[in-house]
Amino acid sequence: MPEMPEVQAHAERLTDRYAGDVLDRFRPLAFTALKTATPAPESAQGHPLVDVGRRGKHLLLRFEPVTFVVHLMQGGRLKEDAKQAAKPRGGQARWSFSDGRALLLTEAGTERKAGVWVVAGDPGGQAPLDHLGPEADSLDRDTVAELLTAHSMRLHGWLRDQRILAGLGRRLANEICHRAKLSPFGTTAKLDAEAVDRLHAAMGACIEESLAYERTRDDMSSSADRPGAVHHREKEACPVCGDTVRAVEYRSYTVNYCPTCQTGGKVLADNTTSRFLK
Ligand SMILES: [Zn+2]
Repeated sequence: MPEMPEVQAHAERLTDRYAGDVLDRFRPLAFTALKTATPAPESAQGHPLVDVGRRGKHLLLRFEPVTFVVHLMQGGRLKEDAKQAAKPRGGQARWSFSDGRALLLTEAGTERKAGVWVVAGDPGGQAPLDHLGPEADSLDRDTVAELLTAHSMRLHGWLRDQRILAGLGRRLANEICHRAKLSPFGTTAKLDAEAVDRLHAAMGACIEESLAYERTRDDMSSSADRPGAVHHREKEACPVCGDTVRAVEYRSYTVNYCPTCQTGGKVLADNTTSRFLK
């Protein structure tokens, strides 16, 4: 799933390419795509795109009267629609501009979870953004410490919980735990001051490096392209210590870690005995 760096760089690209373009028409192409009934998306027609912003993993297409909040979820993409076919493959919604160009929201697969919300006024306090915690790259060290104490849980889950802090997902949770030399299964409230220092520094560094990489691209990377030390690298050598990267698989995600760097050499569970723990 695209996380904060991928979505942020994509928002910047879309702003560069489309800001100022006047919306001719917004059209949902799948009946599940538009998640709101009011305000009507037509209220943006005839207005220029102010810019494309980001909150958490959501893109915000800002027009003067309303904002389109787009969540790409796992397989969603928002791209230039060169063909403008009547029934594009995976097509969810289309924004057509008066200069003849269009943006197409597509979603691969059959999950149909990607969606568009139309909101008036400040989108921050409204669905689907109203439950989001602060941006993960906006937190100072002491705020991170407070949030760790306030939400006692496994560190990997804490990093991914959008209500606690917004923008991180499975890949960055794996990379941040590795960079900080912390077990993904450690309990947040038990981290000592030095561990919190390392975690805070790792969050900033991993987000910044991913964002720098994404900004070099013409389009959003696929997960296989994204730089990293452990995510989806099980059985490979840890670039820091040379130990073998391990995996613990859950139903919808995989935790990758290096035993030497993160768990005092302890192999927590292999991916056959721990498969589908929850
Ligand atoms: Zn290592």
